Amino acid sequence: MLSFPAHACFFLRPKPGQRPLCSARAFAKALGAELLVLESASRAGKAAALQGMTTLLARTLAQGREVAIETSGLRKEELGRLRNLVKRAYFTPVELDLDDLTPADDRPLEIARVFPDTWRPWLRGPFDIIGDIHDCAAELMELLDKLGYRVTGDPSASEGTLTVLPHHAGRSLVFLGDFTDRGPTPIATLRLVIAAARSGALAVIGNHDKRLREFLEGRRVHETDWFTKTARATASLSPDERRAIATYLARLPSHLVLDDEALVVAHAGCRSAMQGRDNEYVSEFCMYGESGGTLDKDGYPIRIDWAADYEGSATVVYGHVTTPTPRWNAAGNAVCIDTGCCLGGALTALRWPERTLVSVAARRVYTRLAGFPRGARAPAGAKAALT
Ligand code: MN
Repeated sequence: MLSFPAHACFFLRPKPGQRPLCSARAFAKALGAELLVLESASRAGKAAALQGMTTLLARTLAQGREVAIETSGLRKEELGRLRNLVKRAYFTPVELDLDDLTPADDRPLEIARVFPDTWRPWLRGPFDIIGDIHDCAAELMELLDKLGYRVTGDPSASEGTLTVLPHHAGRSLVFLGDFTDRGPTPIATLRLVIAAARSGALAVIGNHDKRLREFLEGRRVHETDWFTKTARATASLSPDERRAIATYLARLPSHLVLDDEALVVAHAGCRSAMQGRDNEYVSEFCMYGESGGTLDKDGYPIRIDWAADYEGSATVVYGHVTTPTPRWNAAGNAVCIDTGCCLGGALTALRWPERTLVSVAARRVYTRLAGFPRGARAPAGAKAALT
């Protein structure tokens, strides 16, 4: 039995002098994959085939099929370009020696798919999905209490004593990422989130979490005022606790497909073609959303509202873009619940499948942002619009 990542694009490499076509065909057939052979194509034919790749990838993506490419006719730069194209189309490139795929006898190949850790449709909830926390541990404690989670221990004391007890009604927590920066208490927040994870809470990675992870791994990161504060706070921790935080952050998926594919959670959003897939293009989008490549006057990328034309059948719950009240898109299948707690707004949870909102007001304005109304908050228990 051969085992490969799901949603792969296979680059099938023959040995020099090998006649590769038979085993490439057998492999593609066993997969039910589209096979692309460029070996015998003329230069012009090859260029046309490479140009047609985007269309081919889009078609196979829509069909849920995989692609196998017999690579003996390709030069190194062509291969590199192709690999990039494949990743941009949300496939995972897998390099294989054709030799390894030739079955010992005439039996058909048996192939198993390993799904990425973004694919968890068997987790059915019910869920309490919490938006960007940004250091607001006190508000998080209050929100957990309001949602019915009991916390024992003190998050400002050492990490080991803290427990978030399982919910009495079997509900599960899901965090949308961006745990730290801009607010008052990064360490207590991280401890609460990690304690919740020990009791089964799920989470996806936010852009701020990625930067903290890279910093804890010793990589150079772009520092800002608020990040310097987080960095300094983590420096006071024991090496074990720093490592535990880095390990926790490193394991966070870019997004999660949950509840029989009815629900997708991602920090900044997730288009339907990406859902349940994973590579660096998927994770960039899930962390940062979409930008048109232009910058505003402060040097931040101008965001494109991906949810405006989102047509997926799964409801996407996301954060990242602060909004005074939770904001549903026009189609009613995507909702942003980052209500800017660190800006003096509120920390908001969406209950799934109920789609009701639970929120607690920020205790104060921790970071000022022009245009964000002070005291903005979602009315407690309000039914979210358009459901
Ligand atoms: Mn954020």
